Amino acid sequence: MKKHNFFAGPAILPAPVLEQAAEAVKEFAGMGLSILEISHRSKQFAAVLEEAQATTKELLGLGDDFEVLFLTGGASSQFFMSAMNLLDQGETACYVDTGTWSTKAIKEAKHFGNIEVLASSKDSNFNYIPKGYEIPANAKYLHLTSNNTIYGTQYHSLPDTNVPIVCDMSSDIFSRPINADRYGMIYAGAQKNLGPAGTTLVMVRKDMLGKVNREIPTMLDYNTHIKKASAFNTPPVYPIYVCLLTMRWLKEQGGIAAMQKHNEEKGAMLYNEIDRNPMFKGTAAKEDRSLMNVTFVMNDGHEDKADAFMQTCQENGIMGIKGHRSVGGFRASTYNAMSKESIGILVDLMKNFS
Ligand SMILES: *Cc1c(COP(=O)(O)O)cnc(C)c1O
Repeated sequence: MKKHNFFAGPAILPAPVLEQAAEAVKEFAGMGLSILEISHRSKQFAAVLEEAQATTKELLGLGDDFEVLFLTGGASSQFFMSAMNLLDQGETACYVDTGTWSTKAIKEAKHFGNIEVLASSKDSNFNYIPKGYEIPANAKYLHLTSNNTIYGTQYHSLPDTNVPIVCDMSSDIFSRPINADRYGMIYAGAQKNLGPAGTTLVMVRKDMLGKVNREIPTMLDYNTHIKKASAFNTPPVYPIYVCLLTMRWLKEQGGIAAMQKHNEEKGAMLYNEIDRNPMFKGTAAKEDRSLMNVTFVMNDGHEDKADAFMQTCQENGIMGIKGHRSVGGFRASTYNAMSKESIGILVDLMKNFS
């Protein structure tokens, strides 16, 4: 039976990417060796890194003022690394708390400066994106989590401010065009919408760096990795290569503007069914609904049918739609590589189930 991969992360990758990735494990770039056993200093891998950095900039429309890095330690390490590199002791950075990942970013940043939490949606289990808060003009940066993987909320516009935004885009990177001018830094763990677990994409504007007085351990200093083009030490060769394959695929699809259209169409299919079908209801505020992680539960009075629906999904090859334990219910992750065909199969199941 064909499987439909709705897992939240690690998550679905495009079929041609998986094929090329498998090929490279056997033999890479005509070298007669596997990509798993070659030097990270080889000219073949240097070309991968260079193309991956250039393609990231091209897809996102980043100018030469940005540096692109492929690091390790997950998005979770960027929670502290960003503050350590960008925020001096005594300075203030602002955060908006939109759920688990933001909460963790706030906790780690507090080691390095004054952290002001401007708004939080904790009061209603993070089912909306707070709006209408004041952003102090002297803040060093404003940290946002653009897509909240667990709660199924996503920013559809940015707050109005001149303060540079530092953004965790782990679960919606490359899903839509961005306005690069608004960002001081962007980071994303690869394993949601880009590649396998093991590398974290970091894009930082050069003028954000070199302004703190603290001593930074070599490996945790962005400038170390900038100077060595992400090869100061052994980078995660294979995850970076698979990220590059995904980026090439994105370009073939027409870039991230085409992806946005594709994702909007998929989101409409699924949310229309959730709203129409009396058996189900969405959990996120309508105006903040995520196009990457669609969260829903059984509607009032139908709570006892959750197990039966899960069973139906399993029998039909729908994988990974169990909701995160902090929300319950269901979560259909519909990243770039998810096809409309798979969404259609889930929608039909929901229709038949009722
Ligand atoms: C998954 C996720 C993280 C954590 O990523 P790791 O690479 O596991 O550290 C952080 N932020 C968001 C938005 C995520 O979805």
